[in-house]
Amino acid sequence: MKKIEEIINKTAQDKMDFNIGLQLLLDEYSFDEVFKTLQFYIFNSIPNKTDYNSNTYKRAINTIPLKPMYTPIVILKNYPTKVAFNKLASLPENENKKVIGSLLWIFKITDTERRSRECKNRCGHFWHELD
Ligand SMILES: [Zn+2]
Repeated sequence: MKKIEEIINKTAQDKMDFNIGLQLLLDEYSFDEVFKTLQFYIFNSIPNKTDYNSNTYKRAINTIPLKPMYTPIVILKNYPTKVAFNKLASLPENENKKVIGSLLWIFKITDTERRSRECKNRCGHFWHELD
């Protein structure tokens, strides 16, 4: 597993503090790399591959620990998933931390739900074998 993937998965699995994981991602990797990796993980963790929406995804968006009037949150709440991600990818640089923080949070929630749903009995997802 690449270091960036390890940071994301440890954060999602509460093996690394959320804010520490977020800061490491922001400090050590480009916005594009972190964004693309998180988008791939989030889309994979949502069972509905038609419009990439689910109750868990909605709950994730509604619990992002950022002020609800921040641009990335407004976009995530008001557009279909793929459209929202396209818009997030092209926001100005001063939104980068809020965008990555939002996506890391979403993945933490959707991945946690998937682990309780599909992964109870040794799922074979190599990224769930972190210890
Ligand atoms: Zn799994």
